[in-house]
Amino acid sequence: MLPETRGTNRVYMDANATTPLLAEVVEAMRPYWMETFGNASSIHLDGQRARTAVDQAREILAEFFHCHEAEVVFNSGGTEGDNTAIFGMVRPGDHLITTSIEHSAVLQAARRVGGVGGVDVTYVDPEPSGLIDPEAIRAALRPQTRLISVMLANNETGVLQPVEEIGRIAAEAGAFFHIDAVQAAGKIPLDVRRIGCHLLSISAHKMHGPKGVGALFVRRGTPLESLLVGGSHERRRRAGTENVPGIVGLGKAAELAMKSLEDGVWDRVAALRDRLETGLLRLYGTGLNGAGSDGKPVTRAANTTNLWFDQVEGEALVIALDLKGVAVSGGSACHSGATEPSHVLLAMGLDKTRARASLRFSLLKTTSDADVDRVLQVVPEAVSQLRTLSPIAAGTLG
Ligand code: PLP
Repeated sequence: MLPETRGTNRVYMDANATTPLLAEVVEAMRPYWMETFGNASSIHLDGQRARTAVDQAREILAEFFHCHEAEVVFNSGGTEGDNTAIFGMVRPGDHLITTSIEHSAVLQAARRVGGVGGVDVTYVDPEPSGLIDPEAIRAALRPQTRLISVMLANNETGVLQPVEEIGRIAAEAGAFFHIDAVQAAGKIPLDVRRIGCHLLSISAHKMHGPKGVGALFVRRGTPLESLLVGGSHERRRRAGTENVPGIVGLGKAAELAMKSLEDGVWDRVAALRDRLETGLLRLYGTGLNGAGSDGKPVTRAANTTNLWFDQVEGEALVIALDLKGVAVSGGSACHSGATEPSHVLLAMGLDKTRARASLRFSLLKTTSDADVDRVLQVVPEAVSQLRTLSPIAAGTLG
C-alpha cells in the first residue's frame, strides 16, 4: 500500500530531506517493539528471535549492495556511516581526497581530521554542471593518499557522480574508496563489486524506511577502526545494542526499493520530474542547476531537479509555497541563525544571489500527475507575487 502524502491536500516534493514510511515497512517493524523485543545479543529465545530478524535484514542488505552478509554493518544512518568512513580510515600524515559538494556529514568530518587530526585534505571542485571530473581526482593523488570519499547522488542537484571511474583510479593508486550513497540508494541499483568501493553509506529514511537507522558496506579486509566502542556488536565494527525494529524496517525498505527498481518505478518519476522541470523552465528568468555546457541536464537521480528563479529569495519562495500547500527546499542552509547560500551551488560557480534564488524539488516514488499539475500552477503564482514585492527586482537592494 502506498502512503497518503496528499492526505491533507498538501504536495510533498522534498523527498531528499526525508520520505514517509511505507505501510509494509511499519507492519514489518510492528512486532519488534512489544512482542519480539529481545536484545539480539541475548542467548535466550527472546534474544534469538531478535537476532533472527537482524540476520534476515542483513541478508536483504547484502543483496541490495551485492556483497557478503559479513560486509554489512548496521548503524544509525548516513551521518554515522560517513563519519565512520572518514574517522575510521585516516591517521595523521595521511592524505584524504574528497569534494567540495559532499554532504556536511563528510565535509565536517574531513574538516576535523584536516584540523586537529593532522591529515592533509584536498577538496576537489565540481565542473559548473555539478559533475566531478575523475581526472581531477587523479590529479589530486599523492603517495600518502589513503582515502577517497565521493558521493554518488548529490542531495541538492541529484547529479550522479562517475564513481566507477573514480573506483578504478582509487584501485590503481592503492587508495581506499568511500561512497556516500545516501541519496542514490533505492533510486539506482547499487553494486559495490562493480563500483569497486571499500565503504558505502546508506540511510533508511531516504528510502521509505525509519529515521535513525542505516547501513555501511565495509569490504572484507578493509582496516576500518570503529567509531563507537563498547560491546562487540556488528563484528566489533559498531558497538551498541542493535536497533532491531529500525533494522527490520531498513530491511523491508530495501526489499521494496529493489522491487521498485525492477518494476521501473523511477522511469515514471523521471518523466514527471522532466514535465515539472520543462514547465517551470518556461517561466521568465529561470534556469537549471545541473546542466552541461550544451544546456542539457547531466545524469541525475530520477526524482530531483534544482532550479533558480531570478529576482526571488529562495527561502521566501519556500515559505510562499508552503503556505500554498507545497513542500520543497531552498538552496540555502541555516547555520547558527544565518542563512548561507548552498555550498554545493557556490562550488558549481553560481553567485550568492543566484544560489539563494534556487529551489530543490525532489519527488517521491508516489508523486502523482496531479501533484505536478498543482506545483506547475502554484510556483508561477508565487514567483510572480514575490517578484512584484522584491527589492532585488526593484533594484533597491544594496
Ligand atoms: N549524506 C547525504 C548525501 C544526505 O543527503 C544525508 C541526509 O540528508 C546524509 C548523508 C545524512 O544522513 P542521515 O540523515 O541518515 O544522517
